[in-house]
Amino acid sequence: MVSLIDAHTHLDVRSFEDLEKMALCGIEAVITCAHDPYKMSVPEVYLDHWDRLINLETKRGEMAGVDVKVAVGAHPMGYPKNWDILIKKLPEFFDNENVVAIGETGLHYLTDDEKNLLKEQLYLAKDYNMPIIVHTPEKNKKEALIEILKILDEVKIKDNLVMIDHINKDTINLIDRDVYVGLTIQPPLKIDCKEASEIIKNYDKKFILSSDLGSLKADVYALPRTKLYMKKIGVEEDKIGSSTYKNAKEFYRL
Ligand SMILES: [Zn+2]
Repeated sequence: MVSLIDAHTHLDVRSFEDLEKMALCGIEAVITCAHDPYKMSVPEVYLDHWDRLINLETKRGEMAGVDVKVAVGAHPMGYPKNWDILIKKLPEFFDNENVVAIGETGLHYLTDDEKNLLKEQLYLAKDYNMPIIVHTPEKNKKEALIEILKILDEVKIKDNLVMIDHINKDTINLIDRDVYVGLTIQPPLKIDCKEASEIIKNYDKKFILSSDLGSLKADVYALPRTKLYMKKIGVEEDKIGSSTYKNAKEFYRL
């Protein structure tokens, strides 16, 4: 069976059975990203959350037969006021063998505070040569993406360290550089496998597919389902392999 990598999930809010299903359908590795399972009102909650991802989610993966790797960071939808403490603590986690990236970060409500939080995490990614996952919101996606591109220019981080995530057919044209481009198969909140397949067919970018499996409705089979659909509409074999496996392996250095 050909391997797949699900490049963006939140396994701490999913069942063991979901992990098993992923292993059964040929998903070799899954990246579980930090998010906001609670209000994240104080930095300590985040530190415990990161600890859980690193020490528990990786073990659950091992038990289910799928390799779980971790992204640590502060999510724009929930973070404490004194987030500077998290920025100071974050590098301590980079040496852990299970940590492969910073994330997910990004912009959601587009506040100045959020922009600064993103900027500081991008500086860490640049200084420590760590891949970073940058979220774009469902609402105001274009506006947020334009702002993110400006911040990337300001930080001067290398393109190959960045994945801009949750891109769709309305925003793909705005990606004017060689960053990794995340496509999230999570209808109706995000795009479906048809939209993702058409984008991959029609554009030449470093695409990375994921399910964003989390607390909302999502598809455990997002990767195999999209792969099947890409075959059906005649997407080149090379592009199928890159978007379902190779690019994620390269980006996260798995
Ligand atoms: Zn997510």
